[in-house]
This record gives sequence, C-alpha cells and structure tokens, in this order.
Amino acid sequence: MVIRMEDIEIDVERKMIRGMRLAVYPPDGRVRLSIPFWVSEQEVRDFLMLKWQWICRSREKVLSRPRNKAREYLSGEQHLLFGIPYTLQVEPLSSGSPSVTMEGNRIILRCRPQTTPARCEAVLYEWYRAQLHPILEQMINEWLLRIGEAPVVWSTRRMKSEWGSCIARKRKLLFNLELARVPRECIEYVVVHELTHLAVQNHGPAFKALMTQRLPQWKALRKQLRLI
Ligand SMILES: [Zn+2]
Repeated sequence: MVIRMEDIEIDVERKMIRGMRLAVYPPDGRVRLSIPFWVSEQEVRDFLMLKWQWICRSREKVLSRPRNKAREYLSGEQHLLFGIPYTLQVEPLSSGSPSVTMEGNRIILRCRPQTTPARCEAVLYEWYRAQLHPILEQMINEWLLRIGEAPVVWSTRRMKSEWGSCIARKRKLLFNLELARVPRECIEYVVVHELTHLAVQNHGPAFKALMTQRLPQWKALRKQLRLI
C-alpha cells in the first residue's frame, strides 16, 4: 500500500512484526513503513501524522548528502568541473610526475601505465582542489565582508555525507572537495550556508530567515545541489 502525504509517498508493507517500523533511505529519501497485519489504515495515518516532523527532518538529511558515483578513471568517462561536463582522457606518461590539464572539452590525465584507479583519483582530486580553492577563497572573503563577519579558518577535504561543515566556536569551516564538480552558484549556497552557521548553529527558523535575507534563492540552489 502507498500512502501519500503532502508531496511524499510512503511505502507501507504488512509484515510479521509486532510494532511499526519507519525508515528513510538514501539516496532519494524513500520512506518505508513496515506494519503488523492487525494495524488499520487509520492507525497507520495517525502514526505517520505523529512522525511527520521526523520524516521531513530525516528526508532533509538524506537528500542533502552528496552522492558519490563510482568512477573508474578511464578515457571517455564524464567528469564535471563547476557543473560543466568534460570527457576524461587518460594518457600514458613515460617519465615525470602525473599531471592534469584541460584542452577544450577534455580533462587530460597523464599518468604512468598501470597506475591504479585510486591513484588516478588522488591525482585528479589534487587538481580539483587547485581549481576549487581560489573560488572558495574569493567567495568566502566577499561574503565575510558582506555580512560583517570576522575572518574564518577553512579547508577542503573529501567527505561522504556533507557538502560542508562549520565549528562556530572555533570559526572553522570545512568544505567537500566534490564542490569542484558543482555549478558556482551551488558552491556559493554552501559557502553562505556554512557562514550563516557562525550566527545560528541549527537549521531552525532563525537560520532560514537569515539565509533568505542573504541569498533569497537559496532554496532553489539547495534543490539543484540535491540533483547532482
Ligand atoms: Zn547546516
């Protein structure tokens, strides 16, 4: 049975269990509810109403995670830089250290034959870091000035479940290296989001109001980021 509440569909399945079990699954925030055979549809609806806030919050969390696609680092693969797709071309290198360059719509990765995919990935991500840092630097400084915040310390790292994070009391910001793949306006959304945590540490109404004041289109950008 599928129950629709607002714009969310909930898969409800009867099972040999005693209590109701509710779960939200990545990557698309699918909601599933397992129920014992004796529970009526009305009881299910009442239960979902009771859990509505939890469902919305959990979906929010799951949907805001970056999705990591499996990549093999072979010629012909598509890789994004700031939202624009490029074709990866892997070229053998006889000597010297591995390098990455751009030519037209291609990203050329030169490395020695038999280089492992993990090593290719590391080389490419170092290049991504070099592309991303100047942009982050500029955006962070511009926004600090605009919102009248004191300087922060920031760095980038590959992260599985977040685009960014902020330790407000240390004024430390951390950004996911995967941001090099997303359009600049989405990077800006993440920058403003993390900088706003300096003022408000949760995602409550005060946070949302400040986001709207600073970046009125933030909800659309968040949505765009979720589709990447
Ligand atoms: Zn946040």
